[in-house]
Amino acid sequence: MGGPLRHFYDLTRDEIIALVASWDFSPVHAVRLWSYVYHDGVDRFAAMPEVPARLRARLEGELSLARPPVALETLSADGFTRKYLLALADGPRIETVLMRYTGRVTACISSQAGCAMGCGFCATGQMGFVRHLTPGEIVTQVLHIGRVLRRAGPAAAAGPARVDSDSPHARHERLRNVVLMGMGEPLHNYEAVMRAVDILRDQNGPAIGAKRITLSTVGVIPGIVRLADEARPIQLAVSLHAATQAERAALVPVAARWPLAELIKACRYYVEKQQRRIFFEWTLIAGRNDTPEQAHAVGRLLRGLQAQVNLIPLNPTAGYGGVPSDRDAARRFQEILAGHGLPSTVRQRRGLDIAAGCGQLAGGARPP
Ligand code: SF4
Repeated sequence: MGGPLRHFYDLTRDEIIALVASWDFSPVHAVRLWSYVYHDGVDRFAAMPEVPARLRARLEGELSLARPPVALETLSADGFTRKYLLALADGPRIETVLMRYTGRVTACISSQAGCAMGCGFCATGQMGFVRHLTPGEIVTQVLHIGRVLRRAGPAAAAGPARVDSDSPHARHERLRNVVLMGMGEPLHNYEAVMRAVDILRDQNGPAIGAKRITLSTVGVIPGIVRLADEARPIQLAVSLHAATQAERAALVPVAARWPLAELIKACRYYVEKQQRRIFFEWTLIAGRNDTPEQAHAVGRLLRGLQAQVNLIPLNPTAGYGGVPSDRDAARRFQEILAGHGLPSTVRQRRGLDIAAGCGQLAGGARPP
């Protein structure tokens, strides 16, 4: 005791149980403690009457339940998107987005403050790298969205009195989908991200299904290979944006380090190893990468791969002059992909008026 506090949210359930056991307390208390935090949404040890007072005193001296406060909340005009600027204890600010679609709610969370990958069309890339997030800083973004849903939910008043507002198990519109598509490159912060994923998947914790967690990477090949080799059945989305090495390198600087041919090889390895479909994301930039030739090139590049392409009309950012493809261009692109046997979707654009769309998060920097 006496050193800096460790963060509760950095630890898995097994680690909490082992820690409590190392202090000579029954695992039963550790299980109750975990359930207070993740099931009941309690964020103070003092508010856990079923945990023995001596253990609570020890916990106060060893672990922190603090969560980053909300510095700013913005709501899109259509009411479908909420963006939260969270203030980390040492200064950086990150953004987390709640998106409502018909029949589902998705949390888009950040894995880093800033990003080192430098994609020119992305506001996070334009701000540069600040630091990696800890597992707890990733997990608490999801808990924050759970709290928001609880407050907004019609059944909020019907929940049991002891259930706090941020319980992921409270009777409200439940958060089931998490996308690691906010600020940062998740595979550049592999250990922390995977630890957070494991905590989020814990059936006695946030209980987010692995298939409902999607990790988006710009193409960090060692991370893709590692994910392929590990038993963590989350969904993988690779930001492709171009079908030739030269065009991709012009849009995505890391393509110089991890070339397109190698990237596709890693993707094929992932699909083969995991026996799971892979997603490719394609930011549609008018006149740049939305031509029929490029659509055919994608079809050829991904031939025989169990894949789906998600087309995302470019979202505006202050530091990039491109414009989004129109609906006709997107439809034409889709038809060509379909001709190659490649299913695709065009992502609904949400939250642009509050700079909460794909590639627009900038940790509180002014929207364009
Ligand atoms: S698109 Fe993703 S990887 Fe590229 S700079 Fe933005 S956050 Fe980083």
